Amino acid sequence: MIPMNEIRNIYCVGRNYVNHAKELNNDVPTKPLLFSKPNRSLVKAAGDDIMLPGDKGKVHYEAELIIRLGKPYEKGIKVNELIDSMALGLDLTLRDVQSELKKKGHPWLMAKGFPNAAVISDFIPFPGEEICKEKDFALMINGKQVQLGNIKQMIFDLQTLIDYCGTHLGTSEGDIIFTGTPEGVGSITDGDHMELVWDGDSLGQCTFKLG
Ligand code: ZN
Repeated sequence: MIPMNEIRNIYCVGRNYVNHAKELNNDVPTKPLLFSKPNRSLVKAAGDDIMLPGDKGKVHYEAELIIRLGKPYEKGIKVNELIDSMALGLDLTLRDVQSELKKKGHPWLMAKGFPNAAVISDFIPFPGEEICKEKDFALMINGKQVQLGNIKQMIFDLQTLIDYCGTHLGTSEGDIIFTGTPEGVGSITDGDHMELVWDGDSLGQCTFKLG
């Protein structure tokens, strides 16, 4: 179990699944599209209510697989050596705010960095990339499955992502990467109950309150 205070930088990958890029009418990227979230946007999906902004337009959920890096990056390191654990999470996005920012060519921070914008489940030991590819992750809202993903479908695989982050930004122990969302993103409404499911097992749940 990784305590929240052992999470350092939060890197995120945008548009890493073809069908999600298309559902938002975005081009499919030719290299990883990276952004980050402030550490204080983290919140645990531990069964409690989580407050979200109710006055800034649509709040979208994006269910994602999260990897945690167990050591600093060095050239040539393989994913299975570098990643020590994984979780599922929600990269919450103020979609209307983001659309305005995109039009102006501005950074996404105001749409992606608000308090509670990075929801994470419990971490579990990383089983290795090959085993990950045999398991699906899913988001259930009020008992109904709305997203289903598998890292096999990622445009940029885990090795490419860690090499890209490591080379351009550097990584250290405790950094986490939100690896992108599959299709099926949508708006959160007040009282929605979310459950993050890994290969049939619940890793975390919460209820959102819009205030
Ligand atoms: Zn995302």
